[in-house]
Amino acid sequence: MGEASEGFRQLRCGFPLPNPPPYRGRGFCFLGSGMTLTDAIARLPKAELHIHIEGSLEPELMFALAKRNNVRLRYPDVEALRAAYAFTNLQDFLDLYYQGMSVLLTEADFYDLAMAYFRKVAGQNVRYVEFFFDPQGHTARGVAFETVINGLTRAQADAAAQFGIQSRMIMCILRHLDEADALRTLDQALPYKDKIAGIGLDSSEVGHPPSKFKRVFRRARDAGFLLVAHAGEEGPPSYVWEAIDVLGVDRVDHGNRSLEDPALVQRLAKDRMALTVCPLSNLRLCGVKRMEEHPLRRMLDAGLFVTLNSDDPAYFGGYMNENFAGVGSALSLSAAELRQIARNGFAASFMPEAEKAKALAAFDRGV
Ligand SMILES: [Zn+2]
Repeated sequence: MGEASEGFRQLRCGFPLPNPPPYRGRGFCFLGSGMTLTDAIARLPKAELHIHIEGSLEPELMFALAKRNNVRLRYPDVEALRAAYAFTNLQDFLDLYYQGMSVLLTEADFYDLAMAYFRKVAGQNVRYVEFFFDPQGHTARGVAFETVINGLTRAQADAAAQFGIQSRMIMCILRHLDEADALRTLDQALPYKDKIAGIGLDSSEVGHPPSKFKRVFRRARDAGFLLVAHAGEEGPPSYVWEAIDVLGVDRVDHGNRSLEDPALVQRLAKDRMALTVCPLSNLRLCGVKRMEEHPLRRMLDAGLFVTLNSDDPAYFGGYMNENFAGVGSALSLSAAELRQIARNGFAASFMPEAEKAKALAAFDRGV
């Protein structure tokens, strides 16, 4: 077992992140190829489809923005903040996530946030991104919807020019808030239809089933948005059924608990419904106790259309490469399986068909 895998053995649910993060080793020789797992993953072109841009706010940037904006944080320094990343469930994390957002006030803050993420993943051979943002987390604090959009879209343009990363954004509805708030937020998004590719659903899952937002999603569909929803992360398989049949989503975020329902697994396979799976997130939020127990292997065996993603990388100990390495080494995924999963990221994206065909052809040529 190589160093990368050993590093992830130290990660357990409910413990703070080690500092620095454990993904530092060169790894082991990968299937006799002469290449380490780490190198093989680093070389794969990747598309990320499940990343909350506010969840890429690293503690160092959080403190820098707090200083710039005169915002007082509850933690004295970066080390104390990192030590608080000892989550035992989704709500634990969300409480800290919403606190972290308090430093994001100006267009420049949103720009800096997104550019830091793009710069980081450019170094991981990520070529394409569909990222989430949570406008209600900002408008509720008095930040204008337009401020958020302007900062993020400016970063998208600069990331394309500087790093060659193409991206689209997906606006998420906070499911712990009510339908009226969601409808108002959807109305605010309509003038920016050309900048927002899709509508999603995130935040506290249990107790807030997808059906709560049936009318919101119907209106979003009618307005021409593509649809996604977090489902089956902590919530039961019935939430995944609702995401598909009641909301009519084009992709399911997480979907782990679908495996508890064989009829649902069949349906997901038959429809070739993409799942955006986030292994380090599942580990950090205690969806799995050890990475070796991650359901990805069973999803692959069931013929599900899975992609790998980082979710909230600043909080969960890794970006794309770390997610591929963590689950890849723990489940002994083959080079072919990792390659197929990386390819799925492009195939499951919301690129228009011509753009997608071009991206897949480039992937297959190995460029
Ligand atoms: Zn998520």
